Amino acid sequence: MVDRVTPRKLAAGNWKMNGLAAQIVEAQALARACPKPGVGVLLCPPATLLAPMAQALAGSAVALGGQDCHVAEKGAHTGDIAAAMLADAGASHVILGHSERRADHGETSAQVAAKLRSAWKAGLTAIVCLGETAEDRAAGRTLQVVGAQLTASLAEGADAANTVIAYEPVWAIGSGQTPTPEQIAEVHAFLRAHVPDAGMTLLYGGSVNPGNAAAIFAIPGVDGALVGGASLKAVDFGAIVAALEAA
Ligand code: PEP
Repeated sequence: MVDRVTPRKLAAGNWKMNGLAAQIVEAQALARACPKPGVGVLLCPPATLLAPMAQALAGSAVALGGQDCHVAEKGAHTGDIAAAMLADAGASHVILGHSERRADHGETSAQVAAKLRSAWKAGLTAIVCLGETAEDRAAGRTLQVVGAQLTASLAEGADAANTVIAYEPVWAIGSGQTPTPEQIAEVHAFLRAHVPDAGMTLLYGGSVNPGNAAAIFAIPGVDGALVGGASLKAVDFGAIVAALEAA
């Protein structure tokens, strides 16, 4: 039974295009550091590491996710990966619409919505990313941009069980800069008012680290984080998980 009132707290790590087989020890160290976490803990390694990591983490509390999937179930799409393949390799989640995919591959919100349906069909929970650029924020159109992305990226049927939203200001990703608590609170309140299911988990992402995690998790409406760089080391990501548990 899905709890539609209380969002599930989640610490999700996005390894991006980082990690060789030798780094699986970091995932194992993370699993040892949080054997029974009171929050969801998720790692999204490159697709090449999903299956061996699933094997290495079997029986642990750390779940796995992909970083993207194709719209189609299978077929002539060289280099792409289908949602069912991610699930088959051990993933329970998939990140969709990350700003790096929107920028590097020209992904549109309409494509994200189509991918969402494919992810759900494969039994995956989607983590849909949205966020404004520095120019958007300077021009005072943050809520307008985030609202438009939310509306266009969510397919019909999105709910707290199948979809997580990650608010990730583009300018905060990998930059060491974070919005003020008031700015994060404003966007999260806006998202909470506009998501189709008020129980949806709303993550913040962008330069979260062990030093700022507790302050970010104290912001009203923040249910966890999508973490890039600081998820690569178990000691750092473990500290972020601990901060979320304590929040
Ligand atoms: C991300 O890529 O989703 C991200 C939040 O990266 P970082 O934590 O490195 O800013």
